[in-house]
Amino acid sequence: MEIDSGRHFGCEACGSPSVDLPSPLTESCVIRCHACGKCITTWREFRERIHAEILKHEGPRSSRVLCADP
Ligand SMILES: [Zn+2]
Repeated sequence: MEIDSGRHFGCEACGSPSVDLPSPLTESCVIRCHACGKCITTWREFRERIHAEILKHEGPRSSRVLCADP
């Protein structure tokens, strides 16, 4: 799995943006760097970081959808 969103999700050790997602994927699963195998974070934290990034980029648009007053 590759995530092309800058270096936010990349491996701190080697800088690779590729991560290995274990299967089955549970919240406590450890996400590892695809390149060097270093443990990066847990799936729960990873997901929260992605969610925060999405809110940062899509926030104004999303709140406009939520507040759909004419
Ligand atoms: Zn790495």
